[in-house]
Amino acid sequence: MQEFHAQVIAAYGRHLTVRDEHGKLRAARPFGRRLNIVCGDRVRCQDDAHHSQVHVVEILPRRSALSRSTLRGAAEPIVANLDLVVAVMAVTPQPDPFIIDRYLCAASSAGMRALVLVNKMDLLGPETDRSALEGVLEAYRSAGYDTLCCSSVSPESQSALIAKLQGMTSVFVGQSGVGKSSLIAAVVPDVEIVVGELDRDYEGRHTTTASRLYDLPGGGAVIDSPGVRDYAPAVTDLEPRSLGFPEIDRLATGCRFLDCQHLREPHCAVRAAVENSELDARRYESYRRLRRLHGELLQAKGPARRS
Ligand code: GDP
Ligand code: ZN
Repeated sequence: MQEFHAQVIAAYGRHLTVRDEHGKLRAARPFGRRLNIVCGDRVRCQDDAHHSQVHVVEILPRRSALSRSTLRGAAEPIVANLDLVVAVMAVTPQPDPFIIDRYLCAASSAGMRALVLVNKMDLLGPETDRSALEGVLEAYRSAGYDTLCCSSVSPESQSALIAKLQGMTSVFVGQSGVGKSSLIAAVVPDVEIVVGELDRDYEGRHTTTASRLYDLPGGGAVIDSPGVRDYAPAVTDLEPRSLGFPEIDRLATGCRFLDCQHLREPHCAVRAAVENSELDARRYESYRRLRRLHGELLQAKGPARRS
């Protein structure tokens, strides 16, 4: 039996593709039911010569992970060892900034950087509400996020995006149809990426578990992770004071109560900032929704299993 270290570059349920230190790709399976292996993981493998099977026996410590919450409040990793979360929305379909916010909160609570990207700028028409889009982006910029408006079909956009991704491992997240696969195809040359198709599992059902890692020519990698509908961040990961909203975190130092939840408490600096328009009202509404979801998921998790 031979042992080696590898990186998981594709995960399709329990069907994995790993890449060893020499760059060789192998099909692999997790050994046992307990290992929750995701794309980006670094793993220890065993090569069973008799059955020509590769078993992943251990997940090496993760530098970071983007996780989601199950309906029962448990944390489930989606991708691992990331530096940057690229939250993608588009001129069409109608952007849902509340989903974007939840991904951003997960990113900042896990210590990853984030980029808010608006794709399909070529579809901006005279009827498009540009000021609404600009308002959404301005709120992200003043919160401290990097933003980029682009179009996966424009060469200038492609180089601007490549510059933002260079040297880092990134994941593209966002609603289905915003152009995540198209953007990845634009920055990773010579790979065939299926655009506009839902992933299906081996029984032909739609699945949200498939994800793949692509190397960037100048260093770094991007991971394509199909949209998780109604994404909810892992509740135990969220930073308790602000749930991962950076601008609320800064304001919260001015609240009277250390454990202020910025809902109905007196002398709350966060609510005061909404009232004098210092804090974007939509972002605050998003915070309130996430606070409610957070409470529900903690309850679903149950007091005994709360960590
Ligand atoms: P995903 O579901 O987020 O991976 O989105 P896809 O990459 O599959 O793209 C969804 C649809 O949007 C496809 O029909 C793409 O051709 C189209 N699309 C992607 N990027 C752009 C863009 O920048 N401009 C325009 N006009 N269409 C785009
Ligand atoms: Zn407060």
